[in-house]
Amino acid sequence: MSGLREVAGAVRHVDVLVVGAGPAGLAAAARLAAAGTRRVEVLDREQQAGGVPRHCAHGGFGPWLHPLTGPAYARLLTRAAVRAGAVVRTGVTALDWAGPSTLTAVGRGGPETIEARAVVLATGARERPRTARLVPGTRPAGVYTTGELQQAVHLYGQRIGSRAVVIGAEEVSYAAADTVRAAGAEVVAMVTDLPQAQVSPGRALNARLRQGIPLLTDAMVDELVGRGRLSAVRLRHHDGRTTVLRCDIAVFTGDFVPERELARRGDLVLDAGTRGPAVDGGLHTSRPGVFAVGSVLHPAESAATAAREGAHAADAVRRRLTGDAWPTGVPLTVAAPLRWIAPNRVTPADELPYVLRTTISLHRPVLQVTQDDRLLHRSRSLRTALPNRTVTLTASWTHRVDAGGGPVRVTVA
Ligand SMILES: Cc1cc2nc3c(=O)[nH]c(=O)nc-3n(C[C@H](O)[C@H](O)[C@H](O)COP(=O)(O)OP(=O)(O)OC[C@H]3O[C@@H](n4cnc5c(N)ncnc54)[C@H](O)[C@@H]3O)c2cc1C
Repeated sequence: MSGLREVAGAVRHVDVLVVGAGPAGLAAAARLAAAGTRRVEVLDREQQAGGVPRHCAHGGFGPWLHPLTGPAYARLLTRAAVRAGAVVRTGVTALDWAGPSTLTAVGRGGPETIEARAVVLATGARERPRTARLVPGTRPAGVYTTGELQQAVHLYGQRIGSRAVVIGAEEVSYAAADTVRAAGAEVVAMVTDLPQAQVSPGRALNARLRQGIPLLTDAMVDELVGRGRLSAVRLRHHDGRTTVLRCDIAVFTGDFVPERELARRGDLVLDAGTRGPAVDGGLHTSRPGVFAVGSVLHPAESAATAAREGAHAADAVRRRLTGDAWPTGVPLTVAAPLRWIAPNRVTPADELPYVLRTTISLHRPVLQVTQDDRLLHRSRSLRTALPNRTVTLTASWTHRVDAGGGPVRVTVA
């Protein structure tokens, strides 16, 4: 382990340690505790449990028949985990590994070391900020990611400015536009370097026609302008034209990366496509005793997908605690124009549906799964696949996988 820390004080023992109290970690903890696992502890570095939904003041969470806002959903999941018997500790950051399933952490009570029989990494994902996207220009105030914007508006009630440009045109970008409007500011434009919005036609039309938000496609931010405070963004269109939009807020949305520091410091095998820990359909990582769930595996799916994985991993964790062997699986890869798939290892016992991303728009693509030139599965997607939107693949074919064979490949036929 690259970042092994010195053990701080006495080592405390739990049965399962979950890192991250978002939908994935809370769902795993609730299911484990409800099924009778005794010492289940969840750590979160934030002061409040719930993960990203804490600051998503809009709807779109919870069961279809009983929709909830993000904060209500976060409270529901937290209560469920606590009622089931899990201990949820906030303001505690997991720092590093002190053994194969031992972590060092620091919180209000100072440093501590926790050894677990199983660890579940549920550390989520973050949007890449302006610096990581190599956007030229000055470094003025008024530049946010969606998460930063939502926290400023919904958690801290801060004033953000009056005219915003939202960069991106996927679900999270439209959520950012809603937050800007909720804060009393105007959305001057949404900008995407792709040829179309990556949301349902209804969502895109509503923003354009009812909310009057122009969508500029095939364009990217070329420069941020302003001394002290942002005063404009300069766009470059694919045909070489430039446009200057006057604004005092720029929100960089989407472009998620897994919060994978702990996985990396623990030398867990990372998947080249998702850049999160590689896992099989039982959410086993490359390290026996360590599981991973939620957005750290696939930045970033819906909260329901994250919670479903948490619950699914709980069953695998329980089997591990009763002595089941650690499966290895074979690699599961994709070929262009597909970008990544998660889970990205496969065993014949896997049942969890797969999520994928494409780099280009594909009209009702036919997905083909092969191993060593043997066709395992072929199916046509029901809808057009767009970049930054979920494409799903059933796991109905996994029993045909040869556990001793070569990598399994998913291609577009
Ligand atoms: C702006 C926005 C809007 C969204 N809107 C919707 C929507 O309408 N509907 C929907 O279904 N989904 C939505 N999503 C997606 C949804 O929020 C995610 O799928 C979900 O939160 C993922 O859950 P998670 O538990 O994997 O990660 P997260 O919710 O990101 O939780 C991870 C937690 O881990 C903690 N953590 C990380 N590292 C450490 C560490 N070292 N020590 C301790 N704690 C740590 C973090 O503090 C965080 O609380 C939205 C996402 C965003 C960003």
